[in-house]
Amino acid sequence: MDIIGFKEKMKEFNISFDDVLVHSGYLINLATPNDENWEKSINLMKEEIRITSLLGIKYFNVHPGSHLGEGDEFGYDRIAKALDIILEEVNNLGVNILLENVAKKGGNIGWKMEQLGEIIKRSNFSGKLGITYDTCHGFDSNYDIRDRDDVRRLLDEIDKYIGLEKFKMIHLNDSKFSLGAGKDRHEFIGKGEIGIKGFETFLSFDEIIKLPMHLETPGDDTEHAEDIKVIKRIFSNIYI
Ligand SMILES: [Zn+2]
Repeated sequence: MDIIGFKEKMKEFNISFDDVLVHSGYLINLATPNDENWEKSINLMKEEIRITSLLGIKYFNVHPGSHLGEGDEFGYDRIAKALDIILEEVNNLGVNILLENVAKKGGNIGWKMEQLGEIIKRSNFSGKLGITYDTCHGFDSNYDIRDRDDVRRLLDEIDKYIGLEKFKMIHLNDSKFSLGAGKDRHEFIGKGEIGIKGFETFLSFDEIIKLPMHLETPGDDTEHAEDIKVIKRIFSNIYI
């Protein structure tokens, strides 16, 4: 019943199933060195992908994980192996997995485009993998999207290490903290360190504007409605 209701609402609000994703639960860590937690993460992710498929959604978004001190090399292999085990079982459900860039902090893997590319390269199912770019996490990791040259550098990195065709979604968030802070604290659009001008720059690139975008800003429906208004204003400033 919930599934039917969900699909009806999608139709009612005219939202395409190509434009949405399911975000994984935050307990999942595909890079953990702890075997028990690694297996639990794999099993939970399989289950969540089955639900994604039942809802008719084609993209499943996950943070690659934290190696908890074991190092990046360990992490790349651990994540790629987990993705292979998962996809061996759910490959036929029509769901693609999107690896999201994360904030540079702790043992997090995937704050650099090169790291996301490394995971994808090491998986046997690279054709089923793509990426989501989160503007707050990227800003936390020194991608200064307020600057045109830096946006170009980001796109070039995605092209070089991952392939622009695998760049599928955007998480649009401002950042409470300054460039490179690695704090991962989302802020309302325009109210943080990226700011209105920063988003005007970021959203003026063809490679970005064509992608579906999701807000992950704090607050409730009223505050999200305000964020959407701000973004629409930014669009009208760029594309008169
Ligand atoms: Zn995000």
